[in-house]
Order: sequence, then C-alpha cells, then structure tokens
Amino acid sequence: MVEEMKEFSSLTCQKAGTREHDRVQRARILIVGLGGLGAPAALHLAAAGVGTLGLVEFDDVEISNLHRQILYRTPDLGRPKVRVAAERLTALYPGVSLKCFAERLSTQNVPKIFPEFDFIIDGTDRVASKYLVNDGAVLCGVPFSHAGIMGFQGQTMTVFPGQSACVRCLFPTPPPAGEVPTCQEAGIIGALAGSIGLLQAVEALKYLLGAGELLTDRLLIYDALATGWRTVRVSRNRRCPLCGDQPTIRQLVSADSADEPCG
Ligand SMILES: [Zn+2]
Repeated sequence: MVEEMKEFSSLTCQKAGTREHDRVQRARILIVGLGGLGAPAALHLAAAGVGTLGLVEFDDVEISNLHRQILYRTPDLGRPKVRVAAERLTALYPGVSLKCFAERLSTQNVPKIFPEFDFIIDGTDRVASKYLVNDGAVLCGVPFSHAGIMGFQGQTMTVFPGQSACVRCLFPTPPPAGEVPTCQEAGIIGALAGSIGLLQAVEALKYLLGAGELLTDRLLIYDALATGWRTVRVSRNRRCPLCGDQPTIRQLVSADSADEPCG
C-alpha cells in the first residue's frame, strides 16, 4: 500500500509539468469572503502554488465561525479575519503573494479590485453580495465561481462572462429580503461548505490550466442528506438584465441588504 501511494504521488507530481506550474504561479485569484467557502479554497489554492491571492474580508473572527472557517483558531477570536488568514497562509506557503482588502465589497471598490485578477471565487454569504460579485465580474469580464450553501445542500456554477450563463440568467433579481432563511435559521454543515469551496478551487485551477470542461451553463447541486450530486442545465438568457441582448444593468447597483452575514 505504501509503495502504491508513493507511485501515485510520483505520477501526480510528474503530471504537473513546468509549463503548468508556471501558469499557476503567474496566476492571480481573488477570493471574496473568507468564510466556510473561501477559507478552504484559499488554503488549497495557496497549496497548489497560485502566485497571487487576493483576499477580501471585513469581518473579525467569531467563535461561531470556527467549525467551518478552518483558517482560524480559538486564539484568533476578535482579530480581523483577513489578517489572520494572511498570517496563516504565509506561514504555510511562504511563496504566495497576498493582496489583502480589509473592506466590505461595494459598488465603489469592485471596479478597482476585480480587473486585477484572472479568476474570482465567490465565497460571500449574503444574497446581495452574490449579485454584486456576479454583476461586477460580468461587467469587468472576469470569470468566477458562484456558490451557495444552506443546511445540508450546496450548489455551485462557473460563469465565463460573454460566453456562459450568469447568475441573473437563472435568477434575474434577488429574492425579497426575508424570503431566504438566514444561515442561522437553516444551519450550515462545515464539511459541506468545505466541499463546495474546494470545488470552486478546482474550477479556478482548471481555468488557469485550460483543463477539462468548466462548470459553465450547469448548476451543480450537492444534496448531502441523499448523498447525491446532480446538475441542472442553465442556458444563457437572452432577456437577462445583465448579459442578455438588451441589458438594463450597465453599472453596479448597491449591495445593501438586510441579510445577516453568516458564511
Ligand atoms: Zn446573465
């Protein structure tokens, strides 16, 4: 068994050739939200050798975060997440270059931050923020991985602006405040959040390497209770207010929302 593991490890390392390594090392990936999705994604992207990671997060570490936001530990309580994350990632992977944005994502900073990156991981925890990431990424032309988690279910989809369906193609407007249960009400399984966050990291790496088929025009849904995955076909909506034939959204709209943060 040990020999088999050595051989597998060797094959895996050989497959990652110099050219692929260089592509990953030159890459710049932005992670918006360092919660249950973004924390595991950040760890694995840094471990994979991504050269530059952008980290957007304005919250401090709370005890209720620790079961799923695995960058943080009990001694970090009360400290800014982005600072703790930078310390941990640098200690684990000194080669990674970090660009930290200790600020709430807004219509003002999205146009400045997003174009600096090759790919974006949406690890946000509010419906309004997810629409802001979607709109900002599409308007800036930056591919991104969308995701959401609730209770025992998670979902994710990759958006390639100009080529594939965006979140508004599927849901043109956000649901009214209060219609979607908060994470406190529905609960979050930490390991489930991690599973979806890691899928997002894989999508980012596939994009950088040009490998396989991205999860575009498909919504992947993970039902942990039934232990099943299914994909729902999503078509680009010609009447999408953002990326349709006659878009009505030409600039970013406010992300203000009554949603409670809980990622
Ligand atoms: Zn669209």
